[in-house]
Amino acid sequence: MAAISTQDSAYSKEAVDIAKDLGTDLEKGLSTQEAASRLANNGRNELQSASLAPAWRRVLAQFQDPLIYLLLSAIGIALVAWSAEGFAGWPIDALVIAAVVLLNGALGYFEEAKARDAVAALAKMTEAKSQVMRAGQRSTINSADLVVGDLLVLSEGDAVGADARLTQAASLRLFEAPLTGESQAVLKDVATLPNAVALGDRLNMVFKGTAVAQGTGLAVVTATGMTTEIGAIAGLLESVKEEPTPLEKEIRHIGRLLGVAVIVITVIVVSTILLVSNIQSTKDVVTVLLFGVALAVAAVPEGLPAILSVVLALGVRRMAKRKAIVKKLSSIEALGSTTVIATDKTGTLTRSEMTIEQLVTASGSSTVTGVGYAPEGRVLADGHQRANGELFEEQSLLLTYGCLAGNAALSQSADGIWAIQGDPTEAAFLVAELKLAPGAPQLRTKRFERVAEIAFTSDRKMMSTMQTDKEQDKQIMLVSKGAPDVLLKKCSHVQAGTLTVALDDVRRTQILEAVDALSNAALRTLAVAYRPLSANEANAPTAALECNLVYVGTVGMMDPPREEVAPAIAQAHAAGIRIIMITGDHPLTASRIASDLGITKAGDVAITGLELDKLSDSDFALAVRKASVYARVSPANKLRIVAALQADGQVVAMTGDGVNDAPALKSADVGIAMGITGTEVTKEAAKVILADDNFATIVDAVREGRSIFDNIRKFLRYLLSSNMGEVLTVFLGVVGASFIGLNNATQGNNAAAAVVVLPLLATQILWLNLITDSWPALAIGVDPADTDVMLRKPRPINARVIDFHMWAGVFEMGLVIAVVALLTMDMYLPGGLIDQIDAERGVGDIQTARTAGFTVLVMAHLVQCFNARSETASAFANLFTNRWIWGAVTLSALLQVAVINISFLNVAFGTVPLTLNQWLTCAGMASVVLWYSELRKLAIRLWMKRAASVSSSVSSSV
Ligand code: ATP
Repeated sequence: MAAISTQDSAYSKEAVDIAKDLGTDLEKGLSTQEAASRLANNGRNELQSASLAPAWRRVLAQFQDPLIYLLLSAIGIALVAWSAEGFAGWPIDALVIAAVVLLNGALGYFEEAKARDAVAALAKMTEAKSQVMRAGQRSTINSADLVVGDLLVLSEGDAVGADARLTQAASLRLFEAPLTGESQAVLKDVATLPNAVALGDRLNMVFKGTAVAQGTGLAVVTATGMTTEIGAIAGLLESVKEEPTPLEKEIRHIGRLLGVAVIVITVIVVSTILLVSNIQSTKDVVTVLLFGVALAVAAVPEGLPAILSVVLALGVRRMAKRKAIVKKLSSIEALGSTTVIATDKTGTLTRSEMTIEQLVTASGSSTVTGVGYAPEGRVLADGHQRANGELFEEQSLLLTYGCLAGNAALSQSADGIWAIQGDPTEAAFLVAELKLAPGAPQLRTKRFERVAEIAFTSDRKMMSTMQTDKEQDKQIMLVSKGAPDVLLKKCSHVQAGTLTVALDDVRRTQILEAVDALSNAALRTLAVAYRPLSANEANAPTAALECNLVYVGTVGMMDPPREEVAPAIAQAHAAGIRIIMITGDHPLTASRIASDLGITKAGDVAITGLELDKLSDSDFALAVRKASVYARVSPANKLRIVAALQADGQVVAMTGDGVNDAPALKSADVGIAMGITGTEVTKEAAKVILADDNFATIVDAVREGRSIFDNIRKFLRYLLSSNMGEVLTVFLGVVGASFIGLNNATQGNNAAAAVVVLPLLATQILWLNLITDSWPALAIGVDPADTDVMLRKPRPINARVIDFHMWAGVFEMGLVIAVVALLTMDMYLPGGLIDQIDAERGVGDIQTARTAGFTVLVMAHLVQCFNARSETASAFANLFTNRWIWGAVTLSALLQVAVINISFLNVAFGTVPLTLNQWLTCAGMASVVLWYSELRKLAIRLWMKRAASVSSSVSSSV
């Protein structure tokens, strides 16, 4: 396909010629087969990104880490020592370290792959869509499947999927800032242009990467993928790599800090050993160096970043299952700290299933019976359905013109189910029209033909169409519908029966009172008006024509609240989150629904966009602190509300659906777009997309965000306290060797042990590292949410992940683990503290002592899995709610049994089999870690209770 040559000059060629060149039918578009074969030949409409590295490179990347280099050099040292011994036996140390390196690498590779898969699955869910005509049918396809020659159907809020030459344009304006930097929307036109026109002036073209701000259009695709203008600018894009989130950055920082601390400690420990030990050979030095390397590797929580990304990725997947699609990982943190949710009303809090219930015209009001989209019901005034008379004339004009001023369609499927296409507010008129008179739609379509449309925007809060009345000498009529308060200002007359009468103040007041009465009953109000146009006026369909209209009447529509919303709002309030409703609807409707849903108290009034416009910045800031319902707001008001809330220190999650909401969504901490009714532009601007458009889903997402953050703290608590336990065991073991009897160790099977007395062997430390840094930490990372997760206040966004209390707890538990492990060793060593207490005890050899100490450390780590799940709650609460932890603990325990009871592993790990009695002793000692933690938590709970009662008695005495 001659994509590039057509593209170069597309703006200077007639649209029909381009269509001919590209083999496109200007009404039907391409055939489905032709589109498929072009896609197969020319490739997907995507900007190329640097592709994913091949698997072998990703495997290798796992070993590109300073700690792994350290381990590899340790293997080198071990092999040198082995060769110095004349290659006697197996190089056990080198083999074990190599196995640990490979296992760590494999775990890292799979964790990375898991995280990447989860993110890729999300990217699929948020793929951009385009509307096209293919084989005469309008359909929605993934923008990546667009091909040159496709007929693109454009409407407000669409993201343009490819470069295309316009063949039709109605009030079509585009935001082209991403391409040209022009901040104002550009008005497009189909007229052919001369050659050599600058990009920003190619008014008959639309470009990939831009968005439709207003209006509608049809265009033939002239270029896709890298041949588009944006493709040419972008060149080969780096694969979309997500910036690390603040949380990831903080955790990497902690990891680095710990790394340095551990290396310093290791140097101290190694030098101390070299100083205090009776070093006799290079083999002794090698043993000590290997031990130092192992300590450094074990103590650094090198698995931390990988576990963090898996936990975040799994969290994102859980959120997607709950219908909240998170596009940016950083929004998980922001969701967890959200203090304000600013939501619109229609479709999010309500079901957006509009049913007209009331009609109010000059001759009185009528009730419409029946619910839903099935046109089963009647239009009753004083209990009777009219078929003629003034009231009937007004009713039918109201509903017929209401239908004409919209774009929706109503249809009945073969199995009798009624369904709508388009905006529910507009479809409600079609249903009511059928209830009034079953033949009305046919008469309407026979009599009127649409000429033009003046589009709806939430700024204008109204829309109009121009129609030729074929029964009135082809008179062109302007018919409008919109917010009654807005439309009434544009009216000079009112319809009364078949006549029009001037709108005096009395009539205006009567109309406004009727609107208020409908709004007070929580109904959504819409008004309909019209005006015959002069021949001149009919040529230029602009908003300026919307004046001197004849007010026909008002309808009141029911839009029932979603059932799950009121409980979700109560839950959000309990979680310390303020809910704000920002709607384009009438203030009374908004206040009534807000109080019904528990957002405000009954009687609280809504503040309107007009009132907001009049406020100074400081008054605005004050108003935003208090008011929770905003009505008749414009998108610009929304932006100002977000800014004021953020300036007040709030973390704001905000929903939006229209194209003009995009700036507010971008500036909110968490911009939320509607998956069903939202425009492509808002979906692009948002960080979270609600697949079900439902407010309750936002609260679920906040809950999930909080629980992910809790889980990150849980696994950090676990990892850090376990690593601290290892470091302190070794450090205190070396420093206090004489205290626990390590110095008196009799010579066992390991000759080196007699001269260089190490509390644990290098291989044992590496083993500990492997079974604690991996699956148990991951299992804790997917812990179910705590029961009080939505009963606490939001976490300050800039609060540290690990605060002082947590560091203190980590150190304290690490110390307890170390003391328990060392005392166990002491039990099996001659001399030391326990001998002085119980002379029977200390009679073992160094290998039994090490095996017991090592086993206690492993068991203590496994106990810590349960302890670390909460800072305050007992480990026995919710003991069985996380089966992954049980799985991880069982696996680790079985592996430890293997290391102690299988003879070749005994050789590799310098262990000896333990007797049942010794196993029980180890379990008893490890359980001290559990009981200590339980006592600590009990003390914290009592202290918190006291603090709470003191503060409540202080506040009650104030
Ligand atoms: P929310 O902002 O909560 O989604 P909303 O639908 O009322 O609620 P907008 O879409 O900004 O907000 O609409 C503002 C007002 O414009 C509505 O209250 C209604 O009076 C009027 N309106 C809405 N849709 C249409 C439409 N299709 N045609 C004409 N007027 C409309």
